[in-house]
Amino acid sequence: MQIAVIGGDARQLEIIRQLTEHDAKLSLIGFEQLDHAFTGATKEKITEIDFSVQDALILPVRGTDAKGQVDTIFSSEKVFLTKEMLEKLPPHAIIFSGISNSYLDEITNEADRRLVKLFERDDVAIYNSIPTVEGTIMMVIQHTDFTIHGSNVSVLGLGRVGVTVARTFQALGAKVKVGARKSEHIARITEMGLTAFHLNDLESNVKDTDICINTIPTSIVTASVISKMPTHTLIIDLASKPGGTDFRYAEKRGIKALLAPSLPGIVAPKTAGQILANVLIKLLREDMKKREENQS
Ligand code: NAP
Repeated sequence: MQIAVIGGDARQLEIIRQLTEHDAKLSLIGFEQLDHAFTGATKEKITEIDFSVQDALILPVRGTDAKGQVDTIFSSEKVFLTKEMLEKLPPHAIIFSGISNSYLDEITNEADRRLVKLFERDDVAIYNSIPTVEGTIMMVIQHTDFTIHGSNVSVLGLGRVGVTVARTFQALGAKVKVGARKSEHIARITEMGLTAFHLNDLESNVKDTDICINTIPTSIVTASVISKMPTHTLIIDLASKPGGTDFRYAEKRGIKALLAPSLPGIVAPKTAGQILANVLIKLLREDMKKREENQS
């Protein structure tokens, strides 16, 4: 397969390594400052790419910004992805991104090309929750003067990240409470041997919280909730930007509240890259098989 890898951070290096090992022919855009050379991969400029022969485009986790610019950690050049570029791709070409935004959704829709948002997949989100929680533990240790063991930890949300956070902090000996809004989540929290509470009762449940870990991507740790917390509480907000915490109010009250985005890419870029590479390669293989079957 011919694949263009456009921009990205250290996670992309693992994807490049695995794809070249699988004999893909790669064009690397936004990597000219990278010393390492990969057999089967050529560093190119976006203007030099023949989009009509690409089977796939691989974008960084963030995809593009609102104006189409792609993050390029290993380049000082500005790289933009446009609808015109996508229109040149063969109809079967797949565009891979971690997440998307209205710009990327719009240009892929208008160019009528398939966009795969890897982070929307349960498998990627669940694997990714592992380095996310390891990063959370690192941050908690860095910002507290007490042990996790024995402390009161409130986890908000029982999604793919929330489950891993709750279970891991429980295994470290913390007294873990989890807040959720669905009765099946309350049941699961209880089954896990943890203390469950409904999010409607959040305020009364944070009065003895030492560490509050939010995974809910909506305004949830409000000024009113923060006002009920002890002043030594540490809030780690894992939810996607802008998080679910009133950071301004937390600062005013002297409560340490930290937004902690992209932990897998920070604490374990190699593993985070492997997680993406494994799924990418699986999807590309499935797509290739389907096209071969259709041709025969
Ligand atoms: P998820 O599986 O969708 O879980 C989200 C949780 O939030 C669910 O328990 C959901 O409950 C709850 N929730 C959503 N909206 C709510 C609302 N309005 N009120 C109450 N509860 C609500 O997502 P995830 O994969 O666990 O990811 C959670 C967040 O962490 C996302 O923002 C994700 O982008 C972010 N993330 C951050 C990192 C990092 O490094 N910081 C890494 C991975 C993911 P219901 O089922 O009741 O809706």
